[in-house]
Amino acid sequence: MNTIVALATPAGRSGIGVIRMSGPQAKSVAAQITDVEDLVPRRSHLRRLTDPGTNLVVDEALLTYFKAPNSFTGEDVVEIGCHGSPVLLRQVLDLCLDAGARLAEPGEFSLRALSNGRIDLAEAEAIRDLIDARSIAAARQAVRQLRGEFSHQLVPIKEDLLNVIVVLESALEFVEDDLPETSRDKIVGDLKRIFEEIRKLAGSFKAGKLIREGIRVALVGRPNVGKSSLFNALIGSDRAIVTDIAGTTRDQLYESFAVRGIPVSLIDTAGLRETLDKVESIGVERSRRTMADADLVVVLLDASDTVADEDLEIIKSVADLNYLIVINKIDISHPESVNEIVSSLSNLSNGTSSTIVEVSAKTGAGLGDLSTALIEPFTAEDVSSAGFLVTDARHYDLLVRSADEIEQSLSLIRENASEEIILVGLHNALRYLGRITGETTTEDMLTRIFSTFCIGK
Ligand code: GDP
Repeated sequence: MNTIVALATPAGRSGIGVIRMSGPQAKSVAAQITDVEDLVPRRSHLRRLTDPGTNLVVDEALLTYFKAPNSFTGEDVVEIGCHGSPVLLRQVLDLCLDAGARLAEPGEFSLRALSNGRIDLAEAEAIRDLIDARSIAAARQAVRQLRGEFSHQLVPIKEDLLNVIVVLESALEFVEDDLPETSRDKIVGDLKRIFEEIRKLAGSFKAGKLIREGIRVALVGRPNVGKSSLFNALIGSDRAIVTDIAGTTRDQLYESFAVRGIPVSLIDTAGLRETLDKVESIGVERSRRTMADADLVVVLLDASDTVADEDLEIIKSVADLNYLIVINKIDISHPESVNEIVSSLSNLSNGTSSTIVEVSAKTGAGLGDLSTALIEPFTAEDVSSAGFLVTDARHYDLLVRSADEIEQSLSLIRENASEEIILVGLHNALRYLGRITGETTTEDMLTRIFSTFCIGK
């Protein structure tokens, strides 16, 4: 097994940057680039990092050694905390590579932890999910999974299923006649219970997916209705998490915040409109795609103005989408004009039974109602205080497949099928459950899963 090295902190300037090494040579690589003779496990050592080629001091760093098997990966691990200069960190990485380490693949530290039995697959995935979490609720669920809650919930289910399999297998081995009626009834009862438990876990995925992936909300409306103002007001109204979503440009005005634990990505199409002036067709196309990709489109109207043809055009264009009408600027309008807008909308041919929320981006009035209305179509419950939730589509898929197999086995039992045939489905069900924690996961599947991790994890 060779020794791997990677930057464990984000690339970029920062106070400190941590380089992590794992493998049998971790200690000797560290010895070659420092003046340290022997690292004491679980103790920090402030040492000079030296380039062995030039003997020049590169940095003063804090080295921490975790002796195998008492480390994250189960191997010898050395963490080097340097000053957070990208140039320096690159140089220290190169020194480690020259001294015999190789660059880690994405997720390779976690893969080694899995291979050495330090964590199971669901726990490894929880580390990725925790790092990627976009709301406190999502982080909380990832920590629960990381602490083995999911795996623990699966243990009794797998054990019960195995017990049923053992009874059926032994009936196959030792009994010439059919299973006695009483055993059959017990097996049916046990399988029904196991089926329900798996289904219950799978049923939590709807809420789990919501807190993990959140919802995409596009803000549309004619110029000057207050899209940018509302965008800023919403972002400022709940600053639980406000980030730029990686991979999107600033001109898309794409920000994220959380409403009761659900990450909401808000896209201000005003940003798209600016592009529209320059490259009209691209702008229109982008705007249209943004709306079509969104889980919810917010159509903004101006309460201080009458409903214009352009507003009606916009409402018509979102008729097939999930949309919400928001009447802005209620601070400068009369209640009658808002009523007028509402009644002119109800005359629309496409019905517009859609929810209507009245707000003022300026004073903040109605923003709480709007936040609630944004997440209402997606959940009735408060997911931030929910119990353990299945958040990963891979886990959900395996739970559903496992439940399906059990359901089929149950109908085979009712049809008096032979134990041999019934057992096929039950073995499959057990294998699917095992794949969640990685007990029965194939090598290429593991490679695929760990490729979704980033380097240094
Ligand atoms: P956009 O073109 O749709 O992005 O609209 P803006 O956010 O740029 O707002 C257009 C104008 O309306 C600006 O002068 C804002 O200050 C004003 N405005 C936006 N929202 C409100 C509001 O709730 N009340 C009042 N009184 N003015 C608002």
